[in-house]
Amino acid sequence: MNDLIFGISGLPVFSNQRKLNYAAGIAYLKSIGLDAMELLFVRNVNVTDNNKDAIVQASQEHDIYLSAHGSHYTNLNADDKTKQDQSMARIIAAAEGLSKAGGRSLIFHPGYYLQDSADETYHTIRDNLLKLPAGSIDYRLETTGKGTQFGTLQELVALCREVDTCKLCIDFAHIHARENGSLRSYEDFAGILQYVLDHLGRAALDDLHIHMGGIRYNAKGEIAHLPVLDSDFNYKSCLQAIKDFQVKGCIIAEGPLVEQDALLLKNTYAKL
Ligand SMILES: [Zn+2]
Repeated sequence: MNDLIFGISGLPVFSNQRKLNYAAGIAYLKSIGLDAMELLFVRNVNVTDNNKDAIVQASQEHDIYLSAHGSHYTNLNADDKTKQDQSMARIIAAAEGLSKAGGRSLIFHPGYYLQDSADETYHTIRDNLLKLPAGSIDYRLETTGKGTQFGTLQELVALCREVDTCKLCIDFAHIHARENGSLRSYEDFAGILQYVLDHLGRAALDDLHIHMGGIRYNAKGEIAHLPVLDSDFNYKSCLQAIKDFQVKGCIIAEGPLVEQDALLLKNTYAKL
């Protein structure tokens, strides 16, 4: 991408007062100065033949970048092969829904370790990812917030090197929570970006998908998303590292105050 843009996960909070659908939400985002929206397919693929044209039209008219977040019911390492296949089907259905809306990046959490070793889990998930159809959609593997969930930065970077259709989604809040509050200083954030640069090359930083937000956590990891200013998330150092590494792509704010946080991040970044 040519730039670094900022947007939100799902519909704006404002839509609680005004019942916005995706198309109206997109217009509203543009009106407040944001440039991206992550459609939430976490329960179902809510782009259909009925609303797709309005979404495409709104995103083109307002120049809004669309991504989507796939189903929470995804485990490419399920014990039961049928459940792995159902997870594959959900990912493919989400990619089709996003494609109808004119989007490009489908974000999801690949699965859980269950009783398996990290190594076994990696190989099972990799073999499934290799079977996903190639097309216009990038499958974005998201760093996860709990130790029971597959998805450390190192695991996902390794998968991105092996599977051509996969790219990275760095969720800084999840990494922070998974490691019980590990991301504190500028060096912590810069270390992550340097790792991506070293192992995936400049192309990965030129087209990176990022989730950012506050988070509550304990030794087991993520508990709940929080507004950035109510959390210990060091967003200023994170954004400074992103700026210094000249990252391009999309930053999606997550949490209870999405558009407020997205604007906070955007405005902070602009002043660096
Ligand atoms: Zn996620």
